[in-house]
Amino acid sequence: MRSVLTHTPEEFRDALVEEGVEGFRAQQILRWLHGRGVREFAEMSDLSRELRADLGNRWSTRALELREAHVSSDGTEKLVLQTGDRSRIEAVMIPEQDRRTLCVSSQVGCSLDCSFCATARLGFGRNLDAAEIVDQVLHASGRLRERGERLTHVVFMGMGEPLLNLREVVRAIRVMTDPGALALSRRRITVSTAGVVPRIAELGRQVRVRLAVSLHATTDELRNELVPLNRRFPLASLLQACREFPLPPRDRLSFEYTLIDGVNDSEADARRLVKLLHGLRAKVNAIPLNEHPASSYRRPSPDRVERFASTLARSGVTVSVRRSRGDDILAACGQLGAVRAAPAAADATVSDGRLR
Ligand code: SAH
Repeated sequence: MRSVLTHTPEEFRDALVEEGVEGFRAQQILRWLHGRGVREFAEMSDLSRELRADLGNRWSTRALELREAHVSSDGTEKLVLQTGDRSRIEAVMIPEQDRRTLCVSSQVGCSLDCSFCATARLGFGRNLDAAEIVDQVLHASGRLRERGERLTHVVFMGMGEPLLNLREVVRAIRVMTDPGALALSRRRITVSTAGVVPRIAELGRQVRVRLAVSLHATTDELRNELVPLNRRFPLASLLQACREFPLPPRDRLSFEYTLIDGVNDSEADARRLVKLLHGLRAKVNAIPLNEHPASSYRRPSPDRVERFASTLARSGVTVSVRRSRGDDILAACGQLGAVRAAPAAADATVSDGRLR
């Protein structure tokens, strides 16, 4: 079976023509799938009956099955999705006033082993393919559509390191941004990396999307400890790659900085951060640590967070403190994959793929 989900309209048309199907069918099918969330060829009423049956034998429109959906008291939704080989991944939908942001996973687990992140405990499973990445978006859009809402933003900040799966991530982004497919704006897609330096330039060459860099420390000594990838790609090389990243006019890079009590949240850290970012068009997202049982790191007090942020702001660095969303359902940054609910508990939250 081939997957419709990995094809841009142009590619899908070529593939159908090669099979002897009229090219314009591609657009019809993708409109059903991406525009209306219809997965069954049988329901695509403007196709002939023979064609509907025929397509179903060769093409699949699904890559993931929804296993659990958890809704946080703040409206954040965590979707637990199962792949064909029974791995589980998570995607998180974060509603804000005028935004609906989906945080997608790019790998099963993660190989980077950042010391404060729950996903690291899972170890690395495998790369997701483009169909599995796109299907996270389709699942979320489908749920939003039922309420008359639309997905507006996608961030690659779920499980995994997207730049270690660049080919499939780029392919998924092409489908997400194609006007004839998911039609999301490139400016509303953010790829976040822990700093796979050579791939930053590569990403910039392949697609125009926003870049976020998970910094978390201002010295190599500390960053080696928090983000072991830093031993291969130290801070100076990372910041150099950031300076060279092709930024559209008026756009900015984002730097994520998880604040850990007594580890990286001092005034001296803030001042070093200001220096490091000098000359970059950048903003800082400070994320007070989401604690988890397997780690002894703690979240700083609101006072310390405030002091860190205001030191940056006073020096002219744009900073926002990311409010933790969905931490009651382990959907917040760094909590994905933290607990695998028992199947019985899972069934209590979902029926027919809808929330009770
Ligand atoms: N591997 C990519 C994509 C994951 S993004 C990257 O590192 O950028 C997930 C973000 O949440 C990263 O910035 C990560 O460092 C941050 N994070 C991980 N664990 C966290 C925790 N316990 N509390 C707050 N943020 C955390």
